[in-house]
Amino acid sequence: MMKNRNFKELLAITVVCFLLSAFVATSMLSAGPVVKVTLLHLNDVYEIDPVSGGAQGGLARVATLKKRLLKENPNTYAILAGDLFSPSALGAAPFKAGHLDGRQMVATLNQLGLDYITFGNHEFDLNKDSFYTRLSESRSTWISSNVFDEKGSPFPGVSESEIITVTDDSNNTVRIGLFGVTLASNKKSYVTYKDPLKTARAMVKSLRGEVDILIAVTHLDIEQDMQIAKDLPEVDLILGGHEHENIQIWRGLDFTPIFKADANARTVYVHELIFDIEKRKLQIVSQLRFITGEIPDDPETVRVIKKWRDIGYNGFRRAGFRPENIVVRTTQSLDGLESSVRNNSTRLTKLICKGMMDVSPGTDLAIYNAGSVRIDDLIPPGKISEYDVIRILPFGGDVVSVKMKGRLLKRVLDQGKRNRGTGGYLQMANVSLSEDGTKWFINGKKLKSGRKYKIAISDFLLTGNESGLGYLTEDNKNITDIRRHGDIRKALIARLQKIYGSEEVSGE
Ligand SMILES: [Zn+2]
Repeated sequence: MMKNRNFKELLAITVVCFLLSAFVATSMLSAGPVVKVTLLHLNDVYEIDPVSGGAQGGLARVATLKKRLLKENPNTYAILAGDLFSPSALGAAPFKAGHLDGRQMVATLNQLGLDYITFGNHEFDLNKDSFYTRLSESRSTWISSNVFDEKGSPFPGVSESEIITVTDDSNNTVRIGLFGVTLASNKKSYVTYKDPLKTARAMVKSLRGEVDILIAVTHLDIEQDMQIAKDLPEVDLILGGHEHENIQIWRGLDFTPIFKADANARTVYVHELIFDIEKRKLQIVSQLRFITGEIPDDPETVRVIKKWRDIGYNGFRRAGFRPENIVVRTTQSLDGLESSVRNNSTRLTKLICKGMMDVSPGTDLAIYNAGSVRIDDLIPPGKISEYDVIRILPFGGDVVSVKMKGRLLKRVLDQGKRNRGTGGYLQMANVSLSEDGTKWFINGKKLKSGRKYKIAISDFLLTGNESGLGYLTEDNKNITDIRRHGDIRKALIARLQKIYGSEEVSGE
């Protein structure tokens, strides 16, 4: 049956959590026989445990919410709009010959009962082996309409679209079509992408006549989501990811709703789809639900989380960390949000720089790539554990001191400025820029191209793998006196203790 656009009367009401029960809203909106489907929608989940000092997120809480929703409506499905394999602190824990690499996340989501999922760009952070293994471990149904292997074939077990046929107690049936599209930002040799918008158009063409409700599960920039909403009014609902903060907007001729929740399950969306069988009309009631300590942990999910947390922590212990050890109690919040650290310096990024200089005496300045800060979270004042420090800098790596002439240093600093907005943006200490953005100052003095500077630098920057900084390697003969000063995380721990007091509050 080809659905006429007039059938789709979209009444999307968003209710901030707890203010209005979906049941009340439902009964106000519908008259004839309806089929109700509940979608628990999350996106960009990196940590299995709560974040923000334990106050927000946590997949054991989400698991409880899913069980509650299932009790209210057996036709409940959990959908994740991409980004789960990487990056995370726990995923960086040494495990066997490599790292956990998202194993803990897949195990937790299997226990939670995640039903449908599409790729995020961060899935392809993993090497090919780990990626294929994670995919095989996952018990969710993977959908991707535009991401394929290097030969252009679907990855094993991944379908281009799915149709869910939902039947309620009164034997009323509704068919829901799902397709998935991902932005082509993570170009690895084992993955190929088709254009997400063209793909979405093709999926609409093939699915629209087959289903009553058509949903795009996306991991795109919001601009691309809006384009789908404008170009393809046949899509009823866009469940998105990639942006890490909640978004709800309506775009296009018939106001197609686009939703994204906050990263790390700090919030999730609960969408109730109410399909009027006689009028063939769809109504959508969406609630943004805050995931906090008010929702108890699901005991079975807690067991799985504990198992993997222990395995990860043991890996860190072997690497010389004591994850539960409280390093300091801070009196200020530390901003490690990606949108902050890739564009500006924050109290946290300065602490890292100063820590690097502390461990490499005699350095004039410090620089590191903003992409090494991965926590993407605002750390509230209070206890900071070694695990939190690992969350801040999961990749670790040594602090290195080097010497180079001002001429080369200027080239590096200019590139860092050009990399603004990306992981290649350079965080720095003892460096300032003139107001017109042309002259650099080191320790308040104008940078001299002939002078030699001693610099504390992250060892990643010396691999030449940073954007536009390929010449920054140990083989570069203009870089001399290379010395290593230990793990950057240890340097940050020492700096935190210097600033906030070193009294250790172990075992809490
Ligand atoms: Zn993403």
